[in-house]
Amino acid sequence: MKKEIQLTLTPREAFDEEAFQETVRSRLGLPTSDASTLIRQIRRSIDARSRQVKVNVTAQVFENEPAAPIRNLHFDYPFVGNEDPLIIIGAGPAGLFAALRAIELGVKPIVIERGKDVRSRRRDLAAINKEHIVNPESNYCFGEGGAGTYSDGKLYTRSKKRGDIRRILEIFVAHGAKEDILIEAHPHIGTNKLPPVVAALRQRILDSGGEVLFETKVVDFLLEGQEIKGVICEGGEKIKGIGVVLATGHSARDIFQLLHRREIQIEAKPFAVGVRIEHSQQLIDQIQYHCGADRGPYLPASSYSLVEQSTYQGIQRGVFSFCMCPGGFIVPSATAPGEVVVNGMSPSRRDGRFANSGMVVAVELEDLPAFASFGPLASLRFQQEIERKAWEMGGRSQTAPAQRMVDFVNRKVSTDLLPTSYQPGLRSVDMDTVLPPFITERLRMAFVSFDRKMRGYFTNDAQIIGVESRTSSPVKIPRDRETLEHPQIKRLYPCGEGAGYAGGIVSAAMDGERCAEKLIAKYKSTQEKQ
Ligand code: FAD
Repeated sequence: MKKEIQLTLTPREAFDEEAFQETVRSRLGLPTSDASTLIRQIRRSIDARSRQVKVNVTAQVFENEPAAPIRNLHFDYPFVGNEDPLIIIGAGPAGLFAALRAIELGVKPIVIERGKDVRSRRRDLAAINKEHIVNPESNYCFGEGGAGTYSDGKLYTRSKKRGDIRRILEIFVAHGAKEDILIEAHPHIGTNKLPPVVAALRQRILDSGGEVLFETKVVDFLLEGQEIKGVICEGGEKIKGIGVVLATGHSARDIFQLLHRREIQIEAKPFAVGVRIEHSQQLIDQIQYHCGADRGPYLPASSYSLVEQSTYQGIQRGVFSFCMCPGGFIVPSATAPGEVVVNGMSPSRRDGRFANSGMVVAVELEDLPAFASFGPLASLRFQQEIERKAWEMGGRSQTAPAQRMVDFVNRKVSTDLLPTSYQPGLRSVDMDTVLPPFITERLRMAFVSFDRKMRGYFTNDAQIIGVESRTSSPVKIPRDRETLEHPQIKRLYPCGEGAGYAGGIVSAAMDGERCAEKLIAKYKSTQEKQ
């Protein structure tokens, strides 16, 4: 017999398996050594609202029957080597999951990726961090696994499609991620564990007869009238297929420019811009867990999520934390020389000294009148401009402009900066020389109010580092709501974060699956009619 029970446990009872078994068995009145009853956790979330941190756990109890597998979906990847291929541009989560779904549906995918395989990519990341050299084809955003590989690997999304999310998580587990991601309310994989998972996804594509081309950049489309027939790569190679899933991410500016040049409809998109803020993890733990200097051996590094409406010149905009990385590092995420962009990542144990988070202000198109003449590329031009300023002010290298938090609010250039996880180094600046007042003034107001939600958050023992400018795509590539096809170009499927339909690893993966399904369904139905 199987039953589900809800438990409120201490961190030790929830995170130490022996203590968990002992506690639950004692609560259920079972002997500790009863092998005929199996108990396991299937959902776990931390509740730190009261002074005593609790963990809410849902557990399954199997009495006199074997435990059902925790992964319950079955994936069938047949061999598809001889099919007409589906072209996928970009090997980020959207592209890789589009490829896997195509295989499940019996169609061969060709994934075309400008960057390198996940292992070779590491050398280019070291060059950015240590020598300030940005390779425009291989960096924190470009290369196998896309922007999601060297990241925190947070796997939560605001999407309400529970079944689809579970499917993506199970595929990750089937390719080497720990089963814990199926249990935690806020699962994450960690930057050290992601590369082998990404490599296993690629191997699955290859083993099933799909193709993955690295260091192959798409530079043009093969168009016949208003229909896409394939793509042209940088070396001149033409690749034709049954349709194109365009999953090139939010940083593929050359793709946005190509679409614009080819008069393929795109739109400027609101997005968000700001800074990354770094505190010590110890301070965030003290605030969130109400603990002393040490959060103890069981609780994970704490996180936070903050949001505030902030008014400047009578106009209200949201200011919010973004992609918070407990125990993580700030990383240089520029995709071209001459720009500074920061983002965050963390290892699976999240055991670093620092807590960092994006702190960004929503930017609407009416905030950018000076860029209106760039039409659909207005937000992109604004983004480029602030990234270039950050590079100038940082000292024309990957050294990033920074200011202590209270100094920033008090308009004082910091006389010294704090230790940081950002490897290329920091330079003390007045952040008002990097970001426009409609961003900095709202950040100032929000920082002060955030202290009311998290006492001690507003402190000169934290510093802001610029610029956090790649929060989402500055361009939207339109598509039909139902068919997901571009409204103007047949067989073109704008996909994932770059097209404006995802905001993280899981949502990009889900969108990749959906685009592959729709493209293949349309192809098969036209084949049947012929
Ligand atoms: P991408 O992952 O951007 O992939 C696009 C791919 O297309 C890239 O590999 C690129 O090289 C390739 N490409 C671009 N142009 C071309 C071309 N012309 N020809 C061929 N290939 C091309 N999200 C989370 O959910 N959790 C996190 O913890 C998290 N942390 C992050 C940390 C960092 C440092 C960064 C940069 C991002 C993080 N994100 C995180 C965001 C997440 O990575 C993205 O939302 C996600 O990767 C988007 O997936 P995508 O497939 O749409 O695009």
